[in-house]
Amino acid sequence: MPNKAQPHVALLASPGMGHLIPIIELGKRMIRSMALIVDLFGANAFEIAQEFGVLKYVFVTTNAWFLAVIFHSSSLDKQVILEGHVKGRKPLKIPGCKSLSFKDTLESLHDIDSLDESEFIGTKMTKSNGILINTWQDLECSTIEALRDNNYLGGLIKVPIYPIGPLVRQEGKQVLDKQAKQWLDKQPIESVIYVSFGSGGTLSAKQMTELACGLEQRQQKFIWGVRPPSNNALGSYFTIGKNDGDGTPDYLPQGFFTRAKDIGLVIPMWAPQAQILRHPSVGGFLSHCGWNSTLESITNGVPMIAWPLYAEQKMNAAMLTEDFEIAVRPKVSTTEEIVGRGEIEAMVRMMMADKEGHAMKNIVKELKQNAEKALDKGGSSYNSLSQVAQDCLHHLQV
Ligand code: UDP
Repeated sequence: MPNKAQPHVALLASPGMGHLIPIIELGKRMIRSMALIVDLFGANAFEIAQEFGVLKYVFVTTNAWFLAVIFHSSSLDKQVILEGHVKGRKPLKIPGCKSLSFKDTLESLHDIDSLDESEFIGTKMTKSNGILINTWQDLECSTIEALRDNNYLGGLIKVPIYPIGPLVRQEGKQVLDKQAKQWLDKQPIESVIYVSFGSGGTLSAKQMTELACGLEQRQQKFIWGVRPPSNNALGSYFTIGKNDGDGTPDYLPQGFFTRAKDIGLVIPMWAPQAQILRHPSVGGFLSHCGWNSTLESITNGVPMIAWPLYAEQKMNAAMLTEDFEIAVRPKVSTTEEIVGRGEIEAMVRMMMADKEGHAMKNIVKELKQNAEKALDKGGSSYNSLSQVAQDCLHHLQV
């Protein structure tokens, strides 16, 4: 058994890992532990945790609003969601929280099977000893308070809610290569926009052309983590494509590399995002609004152009623009229409040069400080995580 002073935790925070770790190995690890932490898709392992008398936690890798939507949708009649929200395009009213407009809806609310899955996940979460969320008290105060209310959704949740974020990727082994570092070091403070669509996002060839032309037209200094386009007309999840060698690939405007060589740097496939966002020359982030990217941007005090593609990214984009006011979003839907080069140029100018962008920068820098305070000793997230550790110790002692 673990030493009393050192609680052990078996962490299964990735959906993939749950399938990869053989059950016996998982059991062995849990015997030596007293808490199992899984993400939303790993709650099946709770039954084994129960057998071994181990505490069970869910770690929600996104935000509290997303969690409220999952719980609320699992508490509603599915036909009400399908008829009213999906077919009727009416906002989904989430008690105590921001409503979810149809334009920002989740794909998982669109059919019975996915709704069944959400309900299953919601039910499993209520069987845990607590829900850890990668957010912090001040960022989503009213939503967190709503989730913590014992009577919320008819008393559905009843497990403690622990906002423990922002937990972001550490720089770790990712290295900013010499060329990128030298290039960034030469740029003025906050003059560069970083462009990335996350671990799996891609754009269509047409959309990539518009984006390249928008950056070029604005003559904006940029670093772009470029992936081959998707076949989908607008953008989608990553599929491996063909890259035609060293010169400008055929999915970018002809001669783009040559013309852009003084203003930008293209990094193929995977960029060391944590290092890039941390660099003082970076002053804006055109992002797909994955929650990790969002937190990495906030914790580096970098405002955003919100360009959501899939999953809960449209919800994140809505929060960033409407609630936090630290991002600008294209007028057209990034999942339904092509965003033209003129609009891209205008958004980049607004974020990097106009007074609205300046205001966004000030707000995001305040949020950065606020996030640091939450994580510092005695801060709200520090205290939340300490409470979890206390519960683990207490569990060991009884
Ligand atoms: N990331 C990176 N380099 C890339 C693309 C992504 O380091 O070229 C990292 C990024 O820093 C973040 C994660 O991958 O930590 C993406 O997570 P996020 O939740 O933002 O988006 P998703 O995984 O849904 O694409």
